Amino acid sequence: MSYVERHAYDVVVVGAGGAGLRAAIEAREQGLRTAVICKSLFGKAHTVMAEGGIAASMGNVNSGDNWQVHFRDTMRGGKFLNHWRMAELHAKEAPDRVWELETWGALFDRTPDGKISQRNFGGHEYPRLAHVGDRTGLELIRTLQQKVVSLQQEDFADSGDYESRLKVFQECTVTRILKSPDGAVAGVFGYVRESGRLFVIDAPAVVLATGGIGKSFKVTSNSWEYTGDGHALALLAGAPLINMEFIQFHPTGMVWPPSVKGILVTESVRGDGGVLRNSEGKRFMFGYVPDVFKEKYAQTEEEADGWYTDPDHHRRPPELLPRDEVARAINSEVKAGRGSPHGGVFLDVSTRMTPEEITRRLPSMHHQFKELADVDITAEAMEVGPTCHYMMGGVAVDPDTAAAAGVPGLFAAGEVAGGMHGSNRLGGNSLSDLLVFGRRAGLYAAQYATGLGDARPVADDEQIDRAAAEALRPFGAAEAAAGGSGTDAGGPSGSAGEAAPAVPVENPYTLHQELQQVMNDLVGIIRRAPEMEQALDRLAVLRERAERAGVEGHRQFNPGWHLAIDLRNMLLVSECVARAALERTESRGGHTRDDHPDMDRTWRKVNLVCELSDAAGGAVDLHRRPTAAIRPDLLDLFERDELLKYLTDEELDA
Ligand code: FAD
Repeated sequence: MSYVERHAYDVVVVGAGGAGLRAAIEAREQGLRTAVICKSLFGKAHTVMAEGGIAASMGNVNSGDNWQVHFRDTMRGGKFLNHWRMAELHAKEAPDRVWELETWGALFDRTPDGKISQRNFGGHEYPRLAHVGDRTGLELIRTLQQKVVSLQQEDFADSGDYESRLKVFQECTVTRILKSPDGAVAGVFGYVRESGRLFVIDAPAVVLATGGIGKSFKVTSNSWEYTGDGHALALLAGAPLINMEFIQFHPTGMVWPPSVKGILVTESVRGDGGVLRNSEGKRFMFGYVPDVFKEKYAQTEEEADGWYTDPDHHRRPPELLPRDEVARAINSEVKAGRGSPHGGVFLDVSTRMTPEEITRRLPSMHHQFKELADVDITAEAMEVGPTCHYMMGGVAVDPDTAAAAGVPGLFAAGEVAGGMHGSNRLGGNSLSDLLVFGRRAGLYAAQYATGLGDARPVADDEQIDRAAAEALRPFGAAEAAAGGSGTDAGGPSGSAGEAAPAVPVENPYTLHQELQQVMNDLVGIIRRAPEMEQALDRLAVLRERAERAGVEGHRQFNPGWHLAIDLRNMLLVSECVARAALERTESRGGHTRDDHPDMDRTWRKVNLVCELSDAAGGAVDLHRRPTAAIRPDLLDLFERDELLKYLTDEELDA
């Protein structure tokens, strides 16, 4: 066998962002031996990049807020495709999770009377985002890490070993979920990035908390780790993915200079008063308010501006529509030739706040534009355009327990899980999602592992050897291409003396660039059937070529090798995105069809589910599954006239 390390834990959490850390803390607090694995350095997760805040209806700034209003906003934002139970749990539990963070040492910005301050964000009826300037994710991660350390100190006092019950494995990448012959989770397989050594962690419960998939797209706010690993690991383990067609293109990413294209410009800029203008100086969002939102948004600049100081007597500015609406509007302005010099539109705070206010409220944005683009946002407008930001689709989970469908012992929370946000996530609803469902995943993973007693599933050696061969295959690619015998790690073998046809070794970086271009051009913000069909053809070719992705050199910190492995995941999830996007013949949230521009109520009843035909990585099968009927008392929170825009008459009269 090729692996050199083997460990055993009760619960393994893959991912150390907000969802993973909250899950790990919970599993450890339930008394279970817990391992946390992360691909990058501990503390470097997407969560740390979160800027604007965490949504929770604490009602500190407007006492009209409560969980029902938050639930309504979340369902409207997701165009009613959200799993209603997840949206309900999220809205009810988010305030407790924020207050809990405070007890663990988080320091949020305050209102003048000393409460946790809350700011406005798109789609939220009231100021709802608890924040720390525009560096909220940093505070969230710092606090959760501090909690991990304090638990480790307790363990040291008990056992003399800080890591006896909670250990972090950093810079380690999981490449397979291991299962017992009867299909239950038995652990994980992976490699250590620095040394290249392979490892197995035996564990009956695994929580996936790996975040998003943005690196499949060319223009993205996501960083290098977000290659859809958890989505692919779940698929390969036999768990279905849902809603994969719904990808959030955040309306405001940097567009210039090219090296920073896609980097996020937080929505707080608009929440705090920033406005969008086209090249003619026009505040164009007034022309893009869709019918379903008409009653809730201001019709004039005067009314919109009044809302910032007197929200009870004015309607919201249209710049604060949900992200999908704003991203499409910007796209249309640029296409119509009214864009900024570098292909975006203008986002201006300089004429709306004093320089002191801007640097106090938006310190990171001020620094980001000064350092990266030499733009002083206190004196001039930013140029912004849509960027691939967030994945609404993900592992199909049980809403209460976060258990993945069909694979006992597998759980998923955070961005890798599907259902919570429907077709479009509201800003701020991710950080709250991480804490609410991270805690639940850790709790129920712990309960599941405890319930097994000593009867723990075990992965056989053959499965581990296959996982090792798969991980090491890129090192054997050159030899295999030359008709050689591959590696002892399991590369394709050829018999001596036979002249195998020469097949080119593929460069993983080239393949990655081609993949990103395909997804950007053919399955991007505006979609058409012929383009998506073309994308599927090209993805099939890329998948076949990726089998021949080869690398040279050693296993010690070899980024080309890491990318060759990540390609499997990005190609799988990209295929799911393209298949589901082609199937859904309507426009809804983060899925816009040029050839089917309207939202169709009958599609609200359908979730598109992707599964793999076999665990070796076979074809992606797509199925239509009915959505869960929304509980009547939750439907009663809406006016019937509004529900008629989303639900069929049949659903309403049921
Ligand atoms: P992440 O925080 O993405 O963590 C994933 C973890 O999984 C990492 O530790 C990674 O190393 C690990 N991992 C991945 N693959 C593997 C593997 N194969 N093996 C081992 N480990 C692996 N949301 C809000 O609610 N409010 C905001 O203000 C906000 N601002 C944002 C700003 C930016 C710039 C970005 C990019 C996102 C923002 N979001 C915001 C979204 C939010 O930050 C993310 O959705 C959220 O942090 C995801 O958290 P997570 O715990 O699911 O995963």
